[in-house]
Formats: sequence, structure tokens, C-alpha cells
Amino acid sequence: TQTYPEFIWHNGAIKPWAEATTHVMAHAVHYGSSVFEGIRSYKTPRGAMIFRLQDHLRRLFNSARIYAMAMPYDQAQLTAACRAVMQANKLEAAYLRPVAYLGLGGFGLAADCPTDVAIAARPMGAYLGEGVLEQGIDACVSSWQRFAPNTIPAGAKAGGNYLSGQLIAREARRLGFGEGIALAHNGLLSEGAGENLFLVMDGALHTPPVAASLLNGITRHTLITLAEQAGIKVVERDLPREYLYLADEVFMCGTAAEITPIRSVDGRSIGNGGMGPITRRMQRLYFGLFDGSTADQWGWLEPVTG
Ligand code: PMP
Repeated sequence: TQTYPEFIWHNGAIKPWAEATTHVMAHAVHYGSSVFEGIRSYKTPRGAMIFRLQDHLRRLFNSARIYAMAMPYDQAQLTAACRAVMQANKLEAAYLRPVAYLGLGGFGLAADCPTDVAIAARPMGAYLGEGVLEQGIDACVSSWQRFAPNTIPAGAKAGGNYLSGQLIAREARRLGFGEGIALAHNGLLSEGAGENLFLVMDGALHTPPVAASLLNGITRHTLITLAEQAGIKVVERDLPREYLYLADEVFMCGTAAEITPIRSVDGRSIGNGGMGPITRRMQRLYFGLFDGSTADQWGWLEPVTG
């Protein structure tokens, strides 16, 4: 059973959870016309910090721009709203979910609907399950491919995109895997249902390029930045499926999934089946941002109480 936080921010005000409702005929319910973000805050030695909030909000506005969805609030207002909903629920380590969606205003696909905006926040542990950050998951290549370029834009984090993610994630769970990895339209590696993908080969990180029908992940960017600074080579390149089976290490990353090792793909174990040394190093560098052992030289941590 789910438990819900007490308050939610909805269309400009903090409301009790039960009052943050929308009409069943809202455009987004029928047509997937929403854009959203997933953001984490961490309890750090310097207090509760939201990680890369401005980068996430920028991506939210970019997603809206792709769909020509009017945004009734600006970035500063949504920054204040994220802080307000954290404080109202007395949260420190949390997952924030801003969503902007077309509300009630007509049933035509091109109907001129108002944009409603909500921000929820709740505590969240490891997204892919307890213990997976250390033990890793068993993954499979999905029978579902990602949408092709110039069909549904993968660079927008829009509600409708996650029909693809649901097919991939549900198929993987049904077959007993922890997560599914999708191929792009051209059969090359793309990403997980809700995570970006990294392979370690000969000590370097290899990750599919943004053109491979994937979301330009903020965790992906964080890891590329941290790796380059640590002297680990990063290559963004097309990767054929079989490289998954040949890689020394494979891991997934995302705001929710953080850095999750993959211990097997399609029943073939990766490396020795445990977390590999480069994955461990990337995990330490990443979590180090939150325990203070990795210096935040980029201003990525933003206090909840500003
Ligand atoms: N790909 C998809 C499809 C996702 O949903 C996510 C999670 N937002 C990611 C990648 C990882 O992105 P980020 O690191 O920005 O959370």
C-alpha cells in the first residue's frame, strides 16, 4: 500500500494531498500531453540539498517548448515551489516530481487547453529495489525498441514517452528481470526504461549518443563530468547489442536509479557477476557529492532552505 505525503503544490498553492485533483476530461489524461521531471534531494553535511535543480527545471521548460506548451510559471517560481513543497512535508532526502500538463479545455488534439502544474515530493529509496546499488540487477534486452527519431522526440521528458518505458519495464519484470534495456530504431543500444546506460571496456566508459533515441540524462551528464575529471576516458558512440555481452562492466544511471550495476544481461553474467571497479568508483564519486567526499565544483547542490 502507498502512503502519501501531506501536501502538494498545485497551480500556485500548497494544498492538502487529497485536494490536488484534476478533471477526468483533462487533455493529458487522454493524450499523454504532459511534461515532467524527477529530481532528488539529499541530506548532506551542509544540510538538505536539491541536486541540479536548475538543470532539471531547464529540461522541463525545454520539454514544454518542444510541444509548444505554454508554461504559466517561470523557473524562479518553480524553484520556490519545489522548496515550498519540501518544507511543507518536512522532507530532507526526497524525490521531487514536477509535472506540467494540459488541463480541461477541449477534446481536440490541438485544443487550446490551459497548462496546469503540480509538484509532489516524497521519500524514495533505491528505485530498482533494496540492495541493488551494491548487488546489481539482472537485465534483459527488450523486445520493444525505442521510438525512432522524428516520431516522438526522445529529448523531451513527456508523459506519452513513458508508454514506451512501460512496455519495456513491464516486459522485463514479467520475465523476472530487474530492468529492460531498449535498442534504438536502428538496432543499436539506446537506454533502459527510465535510465541511461554505460558500458566499461578497457577501463573507459562507453555510452550511446543522444541521437540513439534516449533522454539526455542529467545523471549521465554528471557521470561524464566526474569521470573526465577523474581521468577516466568517456566515449559517446554507437554501440551494438553484443557489446553488452562483451563489456567488462555495465551499469545504468538516472536520478531515481542512481548508479545501478548490471550483473547480467540476457542470462550472461557481466565480468565476475559483482560490481566492477569502475562502476564502484563512479558510484563513490556520485554519492560523494552528497556525503561531501566529492567536492561540488559546479554548484550542483542547491539548499532546500534558500
Ligand atoms: N532515460 C529515461 C527514459 C528516463 O526516464 C530517465 C529518468 N529521468 C533517464 C534516462 C535518466 O535521466 P536523469 O539522469 O536526468 O534522471
